[in-house]
Amino acid sequence: MNEYDSNRIYDLASIIGFNKTDIKKEADCFVLNTCHIREKATEKVYHEIGRLKKFFRYLKKPLVVVTGCVAQAESEEMIKREPYIDMVVGPQSYHKIVDMILSYQRKKVKINETDFDVINKFDKLESISNSQNKISSYLTIQEGCDKFCNFCVVPYTRGPEYSRPYRQIINEAKQLVHNGVREIILLGQNVNAYNFVENKKRFTLSSLIRELNNIENLKRIRYMTSHPNDMSNDLINCYKDCKKLMPFLHLPIQSGSDRILKLMNRKHDKKYYLSVIEKLKSINKDIKFSSDFIIGYPEETEKDFQETIKLIEKVGFFNSYSFIFSSRPGTPAAKKQLNNLEESKKRLKEVQDIIANFQMKNNKKHFQQYCEVLIENKIEGPDQYFGRTQFMTPVKFQSNNCKPGELVNVKITSFNQGGLFGVHHSNKVRAA
Ligand code: SF4
Repeated sequence: MNEYDSNRIYDLASIIGFNKTDIKKEADCFVLNTCHIREKATEKVYHEIGRLKKFFRYLKKPLVVVTGCVAQAESEEMIKREPYIDMVVGPQSYHKIVDMILSYQRKKVKINETDFDVINKFDKLESISNSQNKISSYLTIQEGCDKFCNFCVVPYTRGPEYSRPYRQIINEAKQLVHNGVREIILLGQNVNAYNFVENKKRFTLSSLIRELNNIENLKRIRYMTSHPNDMSNDLINCYKDCKKLMPFLHLPIQSGSDRILKLMNRKHDKKYYLSVIEKLKSINKDIKFSSDFIIGYPEETEKDFQETIKLIEKVGFFNSYSFIFSSRPGTPAAKKQLNNLEESKKRLKEVQDIIANFQMKNNKKHFQQYCEVLIENKIEGPDQYFGRTQFMTPVKFQSNNCKPGELVNVKITSFNQGGLFGVHHSNKVRAA
């Protein structure tokens, strides 16, 4: 979501003449768009500002703006602690950035803007066209979360659930496709909770997918991140009816132990999660899954951990993200005693080895087979390209007749755990 936000911040700032630059010393404004999900996020921001300060010691000081969830969580405190920062802007207030920059340039008064002003944000963004033109692009449809998992900071930094107006999203999707985008990844902290009502008509994530499926020249649709409780039947049915919806779903469960799921306040158990997986498989036998796992959650025992291992093996996740629990200030889990770190590290390694093994096995299945790839860009080396399979697996391949944005069938000639390598013969090009 920060990638989407960063692009939109750029679209806004370009109205008053700012351009992107790779030449650091020429920059007269730095925007640090921060994420609070990763460990020690706040300290990382201060370190980054420290590096900036050092770099500009003998140069003209740039305008320094901190945006994103760290800005929201730390707010005024950031300006007090680090005077090099000029503006602190929360993720639901960045649509005001133009006025803030102009005001700062005039008055030189530091600004802290961390209101939850999400409705006005998207109304403002609607009036400014989205300049994103990458082959695969994000599109935010929903923000915030009402679920309050005990470990998660999102409900506090992004605020309550908000769904953007349906037409606003469809228009932005068409704009992206017009720019050259061929894959849209619909985004939300709780993307499948998308729910917009207009004139007594209810629009859900499945309504969006079905309409996007009809947009000419759009080739692939994905969405993330989903909560198992919001996998409705109409959404599941999209995997049967919508050819452009990729058969790959990131569906976090976090733990395979019902006891830990309860302590996390996930509001679902393992049985329910597995029933959703089964429903999806019965609708589309090719569908693959990935998940998130928090290892060493407070009070996790060896028995709980073994439940997680069993679940991973049962589902056979295509790939997954796994981290050792680390507390986020202000969340209920932050008050809990941490597990033994060495034990958690051992468990994490065990989980990651199993997941890596699955990745290797899955990639091996493609060996000497043809694989449909959406070409994202040309890479270094003669006739070398980069793209992704339906399951998001990266593919590097050689071709003397293709271009970014095309769907091609690539013959896989080698693989490793991280990806696939192959060759594309032009007679295998699918109709664009
Ligand atoms: S559902 Fe996701 S975003 Fe919401 S609180 Fe839980 S982990 Fe955080």
